[in-house]
Amino acid sequence: MSGFLPYGRQTIEDDDIAAVAEALRGDFLTTGPTVEAFETAFAQKVGAQHAIAVSNGTATLHLAMMALGVGEGDVCVAPSVTFLATANCARYVGAEVVFADVDPDSGLMTPDTLGRALSGIRGKPVKAILPVHLRGDICDLPALKAMASASGAALVEDAPHALGSVGTFNGVTHPVGDGAYSSFASFSFHPVKTLATGEGGMLTTNDGELAAKARLLRSHGMVRQPGRDPWWYEMPELGFNYRIPDVLCALGLSQLAKLDRFVARRRALTALYAKLLAERAPRVRLASSPAHSDPALHLLTVLIDFEAEGLSRRTVVDSLKSQGIGTQVHYIPVHRQPYYVNRQGLADLPGADTWYARCLTLPLYPAMTDGDVERVVGALAAILG
Ligand SMILES: *Cc1c(COP(=O)(O)O)cnc(C)c1O
Repeated sequence: MSGFLPYGRQTIEDDDIAAVAEALRGDFLTTGPTVEAFETAFAQKVGAQHAIAVSNGTATLHLAMMALGVGEGDVCVAPSVTFLATANCARYVGAEVVFADVDPDSGLMTPDTLGRALSGIRGKPVKAILPVHLRGDICDLPALKAMASASGAALVEDAPHALGSVGTFNGVTHPVGDGAYSSFASFSFHPVKTLATGEGGMLTTNDGELAAKARLLRSHGMVRQPGRDPWWYEMPELGFNYRIPDVLCALGLSQLAKLDRFVARRRALTALYAKLLAERAPRVRLASSPAHSDPALHLLTVLIDFEAEGLSRRTVVDSLKSQGIGTQVHYIPVHRQPYYVNRQGLADLPGADTWYARCLTLPLYPAMTDGDVERVVGALAAILG
């Protein structure tokens, strides 16, 4: 048996290490020229006009809420099947969260589930809608954007899973992050994501004013001006220290040059999973992908009716683990987290609950071999019998 296969893992190569070492020998440990170089290269890669590098993905979402002026008395809509941060960013600025249900087969917020969430909101302005491109599959952006506009809300894509994914809408292809339908798209460079900087994140937007605002708030809300005294600064607005170090941007820049290769390998591994899993359908199947989405999957999530199989998910997880195969569950629906239940009671979101009951994420990362995929699917098939 070869080594342990985690569900996700960074790919760090010698030239990445050399890039970090070179940055360490330079003059800047925190904000330096590599931050801007990383932003420029990232913006170009996803086809956006502006990119703002930030200390982590959660901070990008907080900055997006602040730049959009979301606050006390406002409502934000987030899908229940996501990481905690998608919802929490609304709370950071004092807004309330309404959870949208998801399609039980893709895990995505859809125009239908968003419509149901919006129809339950009364008396409070909806300021932001936060679709999540779960696993790497892209939400129906034009439809969600139209609904957001009709409600007077901004669309903020929480896109850490979807770097490298491409959507086709009205015959036009859009890399995720190009900002064609949203005010902001948010990315994370946590080690399990497609690019790794350790901690790190990026906001992209085509709105120059929003970009300037996010930049200001990233560093305490401090303004400096050429021509003033050299020590002068002013704080018109309250900001945070959400800066990302130059050293990490050197790693990000080095990783970004490999994005196409990482994405190609993720796509090839996904195709092999799909082929091998097809023999196990319908007892095990890949989460479904909308027709407009051409994903570079971050998460390889399968759906299994554990109840019908007469097997608990825990048994499957433990058995795979004993064979050196890591898994994860994405995600426990956020509307069931005690913090939200205590604040606003338990919402009835049957799609999210059905998704949660059946989902299991299997290993997927560029360094995996075809043999690793065969081993994972073989082990899963043997457990299911
Ligand atoms: C990873 C992730 C985040 C948060 O990113 P961090 O860099 O860990 O703060 C937010 N939303 C989703 C959907 C994520 O997967």
